[in-house]
Amino acid sequence: MVNQTLINNSSSSYSNSKKHIFAWSGGKDSTASIILFHEHEQEWLNPGDEVVIIFGEVMFDKKRNISGHNPDIIEYIYETKKIFESWGYTVLILRSDKDFLDVFHHKLTRSKDPSRIGMTYGFPLSGLCAIKRDCKFKPIEKWKKDNIKPGDRYYVGIAIDEPKRLESMKKDAKNVSILEKYNYTEADARALCEKYNMLSPQYSLNSGKQSRDGCWFCPNAKLCEHAAIKERMPEVWKQYVELENTPNLSLQHWNPYAKETLHDRDEYLTYGYRQMNIFDYIA
Ligand code: SF4
Repeated sequence: MVNQTLINNSSSSYSNSKKHIFAWSGGKDSTASIILFHEHEQEWLNPGDEVVIIFGEVMFDKKRNISGHNPDIIEYIYETKKIFESWGYTVLILRSDKDFLDVFHHKLTRSKDPSRIGMTYGFPLSGLCAIKRDCKFKPIEKWKKDNIKPGDRYYVGIAIDEPKRLESMKKDAKNVSILEKYNYTEADARALCEKYNMLSPQYSLNSGKQSRDGCWFCPNAKLCEHAAIKERMPEVWKQYVELENTPNLSLQHWNPYAKETLHDRDEYLTYGYRQMNIFDYIA
């Protein structure tokens, strides 16, 4: 039988308990912030406090459970989630009701340019990305609005060598940078992740030349990211390439700044892959 007295005593003595909320991207700075907190837990946690880690997962296709993140990176997220949970932390993977396919197939009912009304939305634009707004930020902002209470702390992974971001972060009193508190640079954050064998594979993608942890269907995606999708999920890649054939698209190009189409990329990955180093191609 549950000891009701103990529960009552607990809730009264924990009346000042708070949530320690971490915005986790999977990158080195936010991961190192959680590790640092864990190392110094006794300085931060009071009885009854809760640690909640939130990660926003963008989906390519929710119905088929196909993530919009690189397969290696999302695997890392779910594996690392288990480690954080073993430390007693709650890890929430937040997903929007909308996925890439919903945004892509959306019929425009409003536009500054009347000729676009009735067209199919199409590929996201970096800078003005509808995926970022509808699939990435919305579920996170909704969770924050519904769950952050006065007194809770919100930890952001910003290192001491990012002074402008630190300054801007401090405009909101609930924001805390643990990396700043312990004088960590970005390089220190990376070293800490390596020490715990918890560095995201995003730092070894593209031969370690360039790290990206965004959506693989982003206009900024590198060829090696597309190569990974074609290799690991050929049907999904085929579906993505064929989206270019959709009639009446408002945004027709997967990357408005690239000369090549997705069909060109597909052909290159199919026939040209072994003939030259893909990193020469994107250099
Ligand atoms: S990674 Fe690219 S597609 Fe994904 S939300 Fe960011 S800008 Fe949009």
